[in-house]
Amino acid sequence: MSADPGDDPHVRLLLGAYVLDALDALETRRVARHLRGCDGCAQVYVEMAEASALLALVRAEDLRE
Ligand SMILES: [Zn+2]
Repeated sequence: MSADPGDDPHVRLLLGAYVLDALDALETRRVARHLRGCDGCAQVYVEMAEASALLALVRAEDLRE
């Protein structure tokens, strides 16, 4: 198994960075296009986005202390 995103047809390796908006424009387009056509990855993306939003909430709570 390779960690090269070029060998990752389901863009799973890019999804984490995509959620954090940390990809370059080319990769962002590639992931967005894939998510429109792949329910499996779209589901993973939703879960990651929710987890990311929860983490952001926790950090906001911490900052209020
Ligand atoms: Zn996929």
